[in-house]
Amino acid sequence: MRDDFPIPVKELLAKRVAYHCSNPGCRKPTSGPQDDPAGSINIGVAAHLTAASPGGPRFDSSLTPVQRVSPENGIWLCQSCAKLVDNDERRYTPAFLRDWKRQAEQRAADDLERPTGTTDPDGVPGDEKLRHELFDRRYAIYEKIGGFLADVIQRGRVEPGSDVEFLRQTKQAHFLFGGDPEMKALLDDIYEHAARLHALQAKEASLRGYALEVNIDKQTDIKKWFQDTSISLQYRFDKYLRQGVRR
Ligand SMILES: [Zn+2]
Repeated sequence: MRDDFPIPVKELLAKRVAYHCSNPGCRKPTSGPQDDPAGSINIGVAAHLTAASPGGPRFDSSLTPVQRVSPENGIWLCQSCAKLVDNDERRYTPAFLRDWKRQAEQRAADDLERPTGTTDPDGVPGDEKLRHELFDRRYAIYEKIGGFLADVIQRGRVEPGSDVEFLRQTKQAHFLFGGDPEMKALLDDIYEHAARLHALQAKEASLRGYALEVNIDKQTDIKKWFQDTSISLQYRFDKYLRQGVRR
């Protein structure tokens, strides 16, 4: 039995983010004209924060069917992002998606409040548009880093392959931050700590006694480092994110 969203809820979710994908790294428009002058195309999906049926991604049995189809349990995404989040429910936790939703709604509200002439991307003067783009791409990196740190802290471990995936996702960072050595050092540090934690955890099961204690102590230190880094992250990015006005 699936608890699908009623059409009015889907419409509400879409309208609250001005029919754009809520993934901050995507933001694709999900609605447009069809060839038929009377029709329109929708590529948006009302995705569930917690699944519509048992066995689905992020299913939460504590919700009632009514709660499951309420707007609070939905997020508007484009089709590809909806697929993405359902294929990796460990990374895209309800809390993670709720944060996307909050940001997307905030962005839509900001857009409404901005004076006419600057809301239309084509009306934005070239420099400003570039500045927005740079800001957005930096923000996406900031979120990737924050997401990775939160993930390690939450699970207390580095999932196999996730460190490599993190490296791949943040590859552009050095370029995007104008070669800022602090940024490079931060990313190198995160990657190195993740790799060390992963190596310690891979060995843990084969250890006994004192060797095991030492291993666990080292893991604890690294996890503490992840927590401290996570707390200081916003501060470290402040100079890049403060001046930016999100579009
Ligand atoms: Zn998308």
